[in-house]
Amino acid sequence: MNSTKKVLKSVFGYTSFRENQEEIIGAILQGRDVFTSMPTGGGKSLCYQIPGIILNGLTVVVSPLIALMKDQVDEARSKGISAEFINSTLSEDDSFRIYSDLYNSKVQLLYISPERLALDGYLDKLKEFNVSFIAVDEAHCLSEWGHDFRPDYLFLSKLKDKFPTTPIAAFTATATQKVQDDIIKLLKLKDPYIVRASFNRKELFYHVRNKSEVLSQIANYIKENPDKPGIIYRISRKDVEKTADYLQKKGIKAKHYHAGLTNNERTKNQELFNNDQIQVIVATTAFGMGINKSNIRFVIHGDLPKSMEGYYQETGRAGRDGLDSECILFYSPGDIVKQNFFINQIEDPTEQEKCKKNLNSLVKFATLNVCRRKQILEYFNEPYSQNCGNCDVCNNLTSKIEGTVDAQKILSAILRTNQSFGINYIIDIIRGADTEKIRSRNHHTIKTWGIGKDKDRHWWQGIITELIGQEKIYQDSEKYNILKITPKGEDILYGRDAFYINESTFTGKVNAKSREKLIDSTSGLDKILLQRLKDKRTEIAREKMVPPYIIFSDKTLKDMALLKPTTLDDFLLVSGVGEKKMEEYGPIFIPLITHL
Ligand code: ADP
Ligand code: ZN
Repeated sequence: MNSTKKVLKSVFGYTSFRENQEEIIGAILQGRDVFTSMPTGGGKSLCYQIPGIILNGLTVVVSPLIALMKDQVDEARSKGISAEFINSTLSEDDSFRIYSDLYNSKVQLLYISPERLALDGYLDKLKEFNVSFIAVDEAHCLSEWGHDFRPDYLFLSKLKDKFPTTPIAAFTATATQKVQDDIIKLLKLKDPYIVRASFNRKELFYHVRNKSEVLSQIANYIKENPDKPGIIYRISRKDVEKTADYLQKKGIKAKHYHAGLTNNERTKNQELFNNDQIQVIVATTAFGMGINKSNIRFVIHGDLPKSMEGYYQETGRAGRDGLDSECILFYSPGDIVKQNFFINQIEDPTEQEKCKKNLNSLVKFATLNVCRRKQILEYFNEPYSQNCGNCDVCNNLTSKIEGTVDAQKILSAILRTNQSFGINYIIDIIRGADTEKIRSRNHHTIKTWGIGKDKDRHWWQGIITELIGQEKIYQDSEKYNILKITPKGEDILYGRDAFYINESTFTGKVNAKSREKLIDSTSGLDKILLQRLKDKRTEIAREKMVPPYIIFSDKTLKDMALLKPTTLDDFLLVSGVGEKKMEEYGPIFIPLITHL
């Protein structure tokens, strides 16, 4: 076994690397700069923690998440890694101890905030500690194109000047090329090893439901899933508070979170959630970056999000432990109207255009009869051809209506005009418009002219959007976006295949059939044992004053309940158990299993 694999098992308790981890670690150990874009939960932290353990000297981790640093450090220490953090919350005593440990080369991993690095002369001070590697977490904060731009991060451009031979690795969960280019340029990475991981989160089930009485819809979902921690996102602070109040009145342990609260209130509510002391947190998008809680089982959006990037980030907070989790979006056409109202007030025309585009892609996502996962991945330029089998569309849970005949009308109009015209012109033909353009081309004499008079423009627009979404036709971007028919479209046109549309594309009134409950992932396991293991974890967490997942993740406890280890050697086989945790917790947890 090579040394990285050994560390993976002995420190982290895992037997195999996830995709890309080994390559990233290898590149860092060879002294190369690295850029990594990987979805939330992909396993980025291990990619800098393992080099931190293996390399002689100090590994510096720059992270904007001050509120999270203590947890990150506790978590690393729980595995036997010598980790510390430096930020504005540190007491003088701790600070004194940490610097003395740094001078004595006793620290492997140092988490530090960008503000601290930006202090006058701080980089020179850092140079005294034999820095062997620098990791920049949440690196998209450097880019104005990202959604969390932080001016403090720009100071990180100086890292390469001060540490020209030290490898720097940037990590982000943002997928866009622009952000990637920005990060590489601003951090001055030299010939970086670039990893763009797949953004597919297989464990997430996406569904869109019709929004009617959203408060009771949300409450009902939570009542049906009483033990599962989850996040509820609402757009406005007012709705956040209203929703949290409503849930509390229904007896659900909920707190709210938005930028209008004081720092103290925010931290307190976040900690309650982290420590499993409340079930749900209702929040604006201010909540979230870097949430480390790994057992979030659902993320609900009570309103249409503003962009696919945001939606993807927010839903990505579910299922970080790799267990099945649900992402539910409540959609109503009324949300489009509301958002358009705000978009129309934006003064900068480019910004306004950008927001409209973003909104449009979300509307498509919510309404088209196309696999949700495919839509998300293609939005991030990742081709995805099959149906995922893990979303409402692929599981036939949406209300569909047949639109074969209407699709054939459109396809026929496209064909009879030699596949040379764009959307508006085709709709004009279908609706029998009497325009100069149509007459001059003699298109008022073709059979399909006026064949769709009975339905309005909006309807035909919807059919065309669905046809494009389902790849029956496409817009040729090199030729003024004229519509062309694909082989799949020909199958519809010639009656070899039927065409279904989502009812919500047109009316927004999906009678969402109640989805069969997800197969409870604990079925077959000994639930009593699992509960005992969880209780023990809570007890230890309280004693140590750390969040429970730092002791063991839910996934680890499930694995333990399944494997039922009765010796320390067997205990080490449980996923997520390394040597330190074996020694520390084996003797506590094994008796629960043997005395079952
Ligand atoms: P990210 O920082 O990319 O969002 P994390 O580093 O927090 O993700 O990892 C997410 C979860 O996956 C953590 O619970 C982590 O322990 C687990 N994990 C990481 N690498 C592996 C692996 N090779 N095998 C099993 N679990 C892993
Ligand atoms: Zn799907």
